[in-house]
Amino acid sequence: MSDLTPKQAAAESLESDLRLNERAVTAPKAQDAGLEFIGRITTPWTSRLECPRQGRHDGPLCQIEIFEPWAPALEGIEEFQHLEILYWLHQSRRDLIFQSPANNGEIRGTFSIRSPIRPNPIGTSIVLLEKRENNLLWVRGLDCLSDTPLLDLKPERSSFKPLAAPQKGDFDICP
Ligand code: SAM
Repeated sequence: MSDLTPKQAAAESLESDLRLNERAVTAPKAQDAGLEFIGRITTPWTSRLECPRQGRHDGPLCQIEIFEPWAPALEGIEEFQHLEILYWLHQSRRDLIFQSPANNGEIRGTFSIRSPIRPNPIGTSIVLLEKRENNLLWVRGLDCLSDTPLLDLKPERSSFKPLAAPQKGDFDICP
């Protein structure tokens, strides 16, 4: 008989079990892409079972902390209401090619869903920037565990106009 509570058992099965028709592969050894964690995200969620599936702009305030020496790189960020955040879903397994999101035997390829389980578990969210204090940003719209490592942040694409001069490819259209 297991000593785990139902919640603990569900959390453990997130990591170890395959659902009906899911398929794992032996993932090649990860190569070093030279990524550096530039900060840390603090959210209200400490269990993957409690996180939202996707963040919402009327969701709780979350904090993004930028580590040194990168804090000065936030200069100008307050000009933007919406930011794109990239984070490393550090508790994810990385070896599934088929997944059953609804746990009903129906499967989808990993690249056709936004599951955190992927060969490179990068999560992205568009967040609403509420406030900046030095190296700290308060945002709404995240869906990750507290302590999730931060990979990058940038102004949301549609609200950003390139500051550099246009170049040839900007005007390429299909014949
Ligand atoms: N918004 C991102 C995206 O679309 O790329 C992530 C979506 S993913 C479906 C969000 C889920 O990932 C959460 O509901 C939670 O179950 C899981 N998750 C959140 N933080 C995680 C972490 N640090 N490691 C592993 N899984 C995490």
